[in-house]
Amino acid sequence: MRACKGALLALIPVILAGCKVSVSSGHDHSDDYSHSTPGFFFDARDTGDHFPDSDWDLDTHAEACIDEPLYFESDSGRVRVYGSPAYSETDFRAAATELERHIDGVLGHYQLRWQEFVEDRSAAVPYPHQILGCLTESVLPDDFAEASVSAVSISPHHRQWPYKTGQIISHQLSHFVQENLSRYDARHPLLPYWFAEGQAAVVAGEPMASPYQHYDYDPLDDATLLDAGPADYRFEHYALAYRYLEDANGALAMTILLDLIQLIDWEDGFEGHTDTGETWAFVEAFNAAGLVDHRNQALTWQRYKTDYHYLLSHSY
Ligand SMILES: [Zn+2]
Repeated sequence: MRACKGALLALIPVILAGCKVSVSSGHDHSDDYSHSTPGFFFDARDTGDHFPDSDWDLDTHAEACIDEPLYFESDSGRVRVYGSPAYSETDFRAAATELERHIDGVLGHYQLRWQEFVEDRSAAVPYPHQILGCLTESVLPDDFAEASVSAVSISPHHRQWPYKTGQIISHQLSHFVQENLSRYDARHPLLPYWFAEGQAAVVAGEPMASPYQHYDYDPLDDATLLDAGPADYRFEHYALAYRYLEDANGALAMTILLDLIQLIDWEDGFEGHTDTGETWAFVEAFNAAGLVDHRNQALTWQRYKTDYHYLLSHSY
């Protein structure tokens, strides 16, 4: 495909006819992106690299890109952004730039380099050497982005992106990495909701509840989104519950935990959920990972869940 770039470059004006962004004279947000991550536009009808249409690895937002052949690929080859030709060239570049800008930092928190991440990903993923982006209006500007095993869905209009764009992209890339490390070809996420959100919040540097406030919420009860209450501050408690594990065991142990879940998912035999809503794959992996509490005592999932407030109040 790389050899085709020269020929395809000649097609760019054709592909982009009708969607060229007008030249900006001001100092608005778009100037930040017009000359950022270098790359080329391609047409999947020429390259054969269509957006995946499998139903296990996409969130519902990304389904908007299944029939969109136009994509922008960064020079590194790591990032591809698909979307409607109705969006501006800068919208594509801006999304690719944000993904390129934040992926290494996010992977660093997982103690991984890009190549290691690629090797760790499920072989069932359609494009294991790429992060796919999907520009779709079904992601509202305020939510801005969502992630799944294959793709990060991004609101297309970069001029409306929120102030905390970098933090939100890091949060979603964290979900993308989690999903890729922890699932093989499972249709549903295998991580408890509190763990996925808590880890993403910590990686993105979002606010965390003070350890002294741990009695205000029971994060470990929120195994799924349906278990979660309406209070926004719960996310700060998810971060606190995740951070306790990472502080006691190190970030690499958390990555190994995700790898173990993937291994268990691949092996089968641990389908389904516990009475309290966690997947068996998560519980088995947690108990096989050799995790410890802040005093270096063995920490099973059952003990963490039962003794959460006791452990938190004795750890700080
Ligand atoms: Zn999240």
